[in-house]
Amino acid sequence: DGAGSDEQIQEFKLGPDEELRFEVEGIKGQVTTVIMQEGMAEVFGTEMVRGREYQFGPGTKMAIFTYHGCAVVLKGKTEFAYVAKETPMIMYLNAHAALETMRRAAEADGKRGPIVAVVGPQDVGKSTLCRLLTNYAVRLGRRPIYVDLDVGQGSIAVPGTVGAMLIERPASIESGFIQQAPLAYFFGHTSPQANIPLYNLLVSKLAETVHERMESNRKAKASGAIINTCGWVKAEGYRCITHIAQAFEVDVIMVLDQERLYNELSRDMPPFVKVVFLPKSGGVVERSGSQRHEGRDTRIREYFYGKPPSQTFHPHSFQVKLSDAKIFKIGAPAVPQSCMPLGMKGDETRTKLVSVTATAPALVHRLLAVSFATDETQDEATKTNVAGFVCVTDVDLEKGRMTVLSPQPSPLPKTLLFLSEIQFMDNQ
Ligand code: ATP
Repeated sequence: DGAGSDEQIQEFKLGPDEELRFEVEGIKGQVTTVIMQEGMAEVFGTEMVRGREYQFGPGTKMAIFTYHGCAVVLKGKTEFAYVAKETPMIMYLNAHAALETMRRAAEADGKRGPIVAVVGPQDVGKSTLCRLLTNYAVRLGRRPIYVDLDVGQGSIAVPGTVGAMLIERPASIESGFIQQAPLAYFFGHTSPQANIPLYNLLVSKLAETVHERMESNRKAKASGAIINTCGWVKAEGYRCITHIAQAFEVDVIMVLDQERLYNELSRDMPPFVKVVFLPKSGGVVERSGSQRHEGRDTRIREYFYGKPPSQTFHPHSFQVKLSDAKIFKIGAPAVPQSCMPLGMKGDETRTKLVSVTATAPALVHRLLAVSFATDETQDEATKTNVAGFVCVTDVDLEKGRMTVLSPQPSPLPKTLLFLSEIQFMDNQ
């Protein structure tokens, strides 16, 4: 395919507190290899091993930071690669040190460690700061819970979910945190805006579960939690953030980049919540709408096939009888209060299950969540976590069957399936 055939080699020498930023060329099959040859360096808080080859797929944006200085070689085509002398890393390190002080105090008193929410507009490096803080905590022997509430670019399971997982080892430089028994709840849209009552309901449910998990694990309790949020910070988006703060009983809010948001939260949060302002890194790359879409596609492909270049997962493709599948959507369309039956509030219909009639356009290329819930009449069904996801690749109404791509072999469990708005074209 030509990619990488005329190999490009670039060498960099970094001084203390400098950062090498690069983006792998966005062409299918492109791989850039990175080797740190001398000194010490880290990638978003994970230490690099000297002499080891790290490989990154097309479009990956990375930063190699060093506290002491290092020499790095890049092999393969990049969109850009440069060394930056100015980074906010020292401030991020101080933020981590403050959290660590709180953890130590919590541990001594048998109390719960800090619950931190990282907030800010789009493209300010929220996910990256969460990864850094989580890595630094784990490297000190902590076991924090990582919570991802970003339904647009979320890193747990697939986009359109909110979730949490206990982190026991630093993120892999190439593939991020290992998804070990993540807890995922189905939302089904890529912005909270699509169904705010449902979003808030799931945030509350997840917060409850995270608090329970902390209570049952002494180490996790003292370590606290780190929460990644969406970049929607205006009007109702702001109210989603204050709801997150309340539901999770956050102790610290780190506001990236936006002073207005920092001022609003400082004003509106109770005094025991510390609101901290942090600058964004100049290395964070802005993403266009289509790049965000691609980011979601990549995330879903990784869910089924694993991370490139190795792609070590082998999903199954099989047929499911439509008459066997109990497919539901969450939330009837919003209706004006005046049209509601007496005594029913508008929000209630937004979190109810609605049966979906199988038609090809409604289902094909859509992600379906495989819920642990079995009974659609149960109130708790929408608040039940999900076992995993399948993608509908074909629908044959005449034969009454659909074909699904699934991480697990046939058959699907006899539980409810939730239809998401998220589409995925399986062209593997
Ligand atoms: P969203 O708006 O989707 O919530 P975000 O605020 O969480 O975005 P990130 O996902 O953390 O932002 O960062 C955006 C991109 O910038 C990512 O691809 C990340 O790898 C890259 N990035 C972050 N920091 C740096 C850096 N210092 N140098 C180079 N790239 C970086």
